[in-house]
Amino acid sequence: MNEKLNVLADLIFPNIDKTIEDYEKIYPERDLSEGARVTRFAPSPTGFMHIGHFMQCLIDYVYAYNSKGVFYLRNEDTDKARENDQAVDFLFNLLDYYGFKPQEYQYKEKIVGNYGPYIQSERKEIYHAFIKHLIKIGRAYPCFCSKEDLDVMRSLQEKEKVRPGYYGSYAKCRNLSVDDAINKIKAGESYVIRFKSEGNFLEKFKFNDLVKGEIELPFNDQDIVIMKSDNLLPTYHFAHVVDDHLMHTTHVVRGEEWLPSVPLHIELFKAFGFKTPKYIHTPLILKKDGDTVRKISKRKDPEASMSFYMEKGYPTKAVIEAVMTIINSNYEEWHTANFDKEFLEFTYSPKKMSSSGAFFDLEKLNNISRNIISRMNKDELCDYALEWSSNFNKKLYNMITNDVDYFKSIINIEREKKKPRKDIANYSEIYDNIWYMYDEEFTKASYDFGNFDKEIIPALLTDYVDNYYDSSDDQDTWFNKIKELTIKYGYTTDMKDYKENPGKYKGSVADVSNVIRVALTTKDMTPNLYDIMSILGKEKVAKRFEMAIKSLK
Ligand code: GLU
Repeated sequence: MNEKLNVLADLIFPNIDKTIEDYEKIYPERDLSEGARVTRFAPSPTGFMHIGHFMQCLIDYVYAYNSKGVFYLRNEDTDKARENDQAVDFLFNLLDYYGFKPQEYQYKEKIVGNYGPYIQSERKEIYHAFIKHLIKIGRAYPCFCSKEDLDVMRSLQEKEKVRPGYYGSYAKCRNLSVDDAINKIKAGESYVIRFKSEGNFLEKFKFNDLVKGEIELPFNDQDIVIMKSDNLLPTYHFAHVVDDHLMHTTHVVRGEEWLPSVPLHIELFKAFGFKTPKYIHTPLILKKDGDTVRKISKRKDPEASMSFYMEKGYPTKAVIEAVMTIINSNYEEWHTANFDKEFLEFTYSPKKMSSSGAFFDLEKLNNISRNIISRMNKDELCDYALEWSSNFNKKLYNMITNDVDYFKSIINIEREKKKPRKDIANYSEIYDNIWYMYDEEFTKASYDFGNFDKEIIPALLTDYVDNYYDSSDDQDTWFNKIKELTIKYGYTTDMKDYKENPGKYKGSVADVSNVIRVALTTKDMTPNLYDIMSILGKEKVAKRFEMAIKSLK
């Protein structure tokens, strides 16, 4: 070993005496059975989670679970400026909301697991020991280039029409003598630490991605910054190599935007002589936009953000299921055949993931969700509606809590049945489905009776409530009475003949029912009218008819 490099390394890190070997003893191999995978979800908390990150997290979780391995959470906060406590709370709340349970993590003062700290900004000393090692073996060096120096370099590269970056002959400080570097540091000059790449950009580097297959990219030759000058924290490129080594990650699942950095990352692993993890680079999430398909965008598409699904009140199960369908092409088939099994029981296979783009369809989520909500009984749906509305819709919350049983009777119309109604895709749609059942909400009703003869409506409604409607009738009797009323006012109950000879009649029993429906709810589509009337009760029915009649004058 070069003595001078040792002096340089000690000068930069005088208080670091632990070596890589020391850390490897502190964080020994995990005691797991053969084939057990260790995955990590490693976001940089920003208070926002993209659906792509969520998908990666789901893969991490399922893939580790499939092999009885370990799924852990690492907080990548070396970009301190972006991080804050609220962003971390947001992340943990979100994982908790979806019921994801990392086996190892760190939250507030609590560290769970033997491989922590799991927050990068608390691992500075560890990174420094690893950087110190690289300096000693001549694979890292201090760089004193100022921002201005780098600007000059960039303009020169533009002029010469060559690749930008700190590499080859442009990497000025790479060739500084160790003595010069020592003197500059002693003189108090500011510096960053750069990795000394040995790659040749003109040569091809091949590696295997479990989703994308064999990938060929140029070797890395950039001397990237591995330690910043202001906070002495490492960059992502460097930190994750150290962490994935010491935490014994076997599979790195991350977005395909990291693909071009793989040659660099593998070079870093190799510089230490470490085994590289396997890679799963997930494709972009796409959506249909008119006739084209494009990437889901944080800027344009609210559904790119995981907060969207929380705010709208989609059942977590529905969101997980919808994302699982884009993770593996055979998920839906599996789910249909294993209806009662949890998503975690599904065997994830990187080969069955689209490598070109994962198509996420909101309409599909809505269908999945409508089915899930339709299968809830009234008590379950009421609990979810309460929980959601307490955070996102105070008005609905008050409506429910004022009379929980009344609310349950409304949502139970055409529920708890073999073929339940599928009209609610998320909890934010509940209000629109029930508001008309509440007198306080029904004050400014406006009616559209379509082509129905307006002259007849007052008499018809009054006659109906005074002489026909009886809240103790069963549904058949109720309907027979509407039929009687229909005939009395010159409409027909013979739907077949009506369809064939519409000109013969003023209208049909469907039109009469609709007048009653609109008068009671203002809507021309509602769940079962018989149930609606039973819940409202005769008195309210009469009052609403009066309101509707008044509106016609
Ligand atoms: N912190 C990186 C990100 O949020 C993580 C990438 C990775 O999982 O390695 O994109």
